[in-house]
This record gives sequence, structure tokens and C-alpha cells, in this order.
Amino acid sequence: MTRQLPALDPDTEFFWKAGAQGRLQICRCQSCTRYIHPPLPRCPACGGGTAPSQVSGKARIASYTINEQPWQRGLAVPYVFAAVELVEQPELYVLTNIIACPAQTLRIGLDVEVTFEQQEEFYLPLFRPANG
Ligand SMILES: [Zn+2]
Repeated sequence: MTRQLPALDPDTEFFWKAGAQGRLQICRCQSCTRYIHPPLPRCPACGGGTAPSQVSGKARIASYTINEQPWQRGLAVPYVFAAVELVEQPELYVLTNIIACPAQTLRIGLDVEVTFEQQEEFYLPLFRPANG
């Protein structure tokens, strides 16, 4: 199955391609060191320039929904759509899918880690329960 892929844009391209090296990269302000996601060319807090920065790929589920309807092309139902909060900074959320997680394990606060699903030139950052 083929998922609907994001549009490639110079500000976000790194985010979708860093997975080729098995890394999750998040836009970071070069002045105040704040992480910014979705990526922006300028920091909304201080106006500083930004650049991609490698993060651990560790996060916690902040909220999720289980989708029973095939709203999104290429995703078998049911699938889990979630906001995960990266451990690097409070309220640094990434919207993603949770995979390899039994329904009875799924909960807010669950520790998860990034994994990548390659689709054409994209490496989609998805999250699965952390191994500990
Ligand atoms: Zn800044």
C-alpha cells in the first residue's frame, strides 16, 4: 500500500529525509537553542536562524485516537494517530502514527521511540513502544 506523502518543501525536507541515516532531526534555533516543530526558518521566540538538529527519537504519547475508518490512503485500519511529546523539550509535539502497539498497551504517557517507514524518498517518522 502507498501512503499519501507529504509535499516536499525546503523548510521541512530534512525532517522527512533524515531517517535515511536512522536519525530524527528537529528544527532548532541557533540562538536560544529552542526546538521548533513544525520547522520554521526563524525562531518565533527570538527571531534567530534555525537549523536541523539531531534528537534522541525518544518521546511519550501525549494524546492519541484510534481510527477505524480508512480516512487516509494507504493505512490499514485500525491505526493509531498520535501526538508524541519529544523528551528534549516540554510541549515539543510531533504528529505521527503509533505502530507495533497492542490496543491494551496503548495509553497516554507511554514511552515510545522513533522508527522509520520508507516511502519513495521519504522516511516517515513513526513511533513504537520503547524497548526500555
Ligand atoms: Zn530562538
